[in-house]
Amino acid sequence: MQLTDHARSLQLLALLNREAAQLTPDQQWHLRYLDAWEAMYESDYPKSEALFQDIIRHSGNQAWADRASALLLSQLVFTRHYPKAFELADRLAARLPQVTDARARSAILLNLSQSMAMVGQIDLAVQYARMALAEASASKSSCYAATSLVEALSFGHRLKLGSPELQQAIHACAAAKLPVYSTDLQQTVVDLYLQAGQPRKALALLDRMAPAIEVDGYAPNKMQTLVQRAQALAAIGDDDAARKAALAVVAMQASGDWPRDAYDVLYRIAKKQGHAAAALDYYEKFAALDKAHLDDVNVRTMAYETVQQHVLVQQLETEKLGQQNAALRMQQKLNDKTAEANRLYLALLLLALAFVLLWMFRLKRSQLRFKKLSHLDGLTTVFNRQHFMGEAERVLSQLARRQGMACLAFIDLDHFKRINDTHGHAMGDEVLCKVVAACRQQLRPVDLFGRLGGEEFGILLVECSRAQGRAIAERIRQAIEAAEVVENGVVVTVSTSIGLAFTDSAGHDMRRLCTEADAALYRAKRGGRNCVMADDDDERRAAV
Ligand code: GH3
Ligand code: MG
Ligand code: MG
Repeated sequence: MQLTDHARSLQLLALLNREAAQLTPDQQWHLRYLDAWEAMYESDYPKSEALFQDIIRHSGNQAWADRASALLLSQLVFTRHYPKAFELADRLAARLPQVTDARARSAILLNLSQSMAMVGQIDLAVQYARMALAEASASKSSCYAATSLVEALSFGHRLKLGSPELQQAIHACAAAKLPVYSTDLQQTVVDLYLQAGQPRKALALLDRMAPAIEVDGYAPNKMQTLVQRAQALAAIGDDDAARKAALAVVAMQASGDWPRDAYDVLYRIAKKQGHAAAALDYYEKFAALDKAHLDDVNVRTMAYETVQQHVLVQQLETEKLGQQNAALRMQQKLNDKTAEANRLYLALLLLALAFVLLWMFRLKRSQLRFKKLSHLDGLTTVFNRQHFMGEAERVLSQLARRQGMACLAFIDLDHFKRINDTHGHAMGDEVLCKVVAACRQQLRPVDLFGRLGGEEFGILLVECSRAQGRAIAERIRQAIEAAEVVENGVVVTVSTSIGLAFTDSAGHDMRRLCTEADAALYRAKRGGRNCVMADDDDERRAAV
């Protein structure tokens, strides 16, 4: 609608804006898009940019946002905001695979093609245009795409009068009834005629185009045809008409390539006619504008390359971040593994420790058992001589500190040899065990009992008076006398002699006590055996 009848579209827009309140939100965004387009068409770029940005940021409709972005791109290129333009181009190119709305896609592709052509990326520009052409379903979009393709080829100096792309575009735009595009294409043909040295054909075509251009009222088209007319007229040698047309272009005080090309025509004519001063003046103006044009190309190319560098740096940064993340993940994995290994080591260590402790415990237990066994007599399980002596010394020294009494009894079985001789050694052993059992029954837990050798035993009665000592010894003697070992109907008994020594007379020294007890025992034997003799008794008493 916009380009077919501009005046009518303006009227419609005004009408729609008055009725905006009754439109749906989506229709209102569409209207805003049309307003933006109109502002751009009218060269009110700040207004159109504000409207485009509003649609991009606030419409909430990706298709409208994409279409607005595409148009904003074309405006940024046209208004020479190149860095911004190429940043946007880059974003749009990246977004392209996600854009599904056909009109948005075509708008993006066409404007990408145009921007790429302007920075000399002709292959990319052609590729985008061909994509747009392949996707074009309506006649209008075919015209837009075909024209973009022609422009891309033309920018790259790859277009000829016979190029099929040119014919295709002319047909497409004629079918779509888009006069501005048709005019554009015809101007391209005019350029090709001029380049091919066919100025008359160029002029003829310009004449045919003139009425339509007047109707459009599109200033750039007017200026373009005027410049071309000047060039064509100059080429056929109609200098006056050429100069008139060129001066008309200069008078329009436009920017861009038109005044430059017009000054070029004026310079050539002045030079041809020998107006050296005028020629120089025109040439200076032409050169200044041409330099500006070349500078502009440089700025565009540099902006494009800068944006590409930024994109590259961003990609590298992203890759670096990715690598860093991977490194972090590796580190994390490593940490996990280390923690796992540490847990394993700890478990192994604990297990080993448990084994060691168990081993130590068992070792200690067996050590204790051996120690205990080493303290005992193998046959009777009472203390052996060595242990008995040691323990007795220890207990006596404790008693000495608190002035406690003790009685040492030496027991020697009477005529034991005979038992062995009569009944055998085994019977002798049995009798020894029986004797020990009989003695034990008369003892308290605190008393010490040991086998001193053969059939001799020692007992230390702790905390006992002389009377108690004598009484216990007597009970022991009787118990031994009463003990019997029966074997094969034969009853074997044994008697014992006991010698007593007391701390109250001998003191707490074990050696002294032993001597005294031994002497008493000797006296008991001498006194007739089977009796108890204390350190203060003599043999006569025993005999009594
Ligand atoms: P006395 O009344 O004078 O003490 O006479 P005795 O026969 O007991 O005296 P003696 O000291 O001469 O004999 C001790 C005997 O005890 C000698 C030995 O055969 C015996 N005997 C020593 N140790 C053991 C033993 O472990 N088992 C057995 N069966 N006999 C032993
Ligand atoms: Mg003996
Ligand atoms: Mg004996």
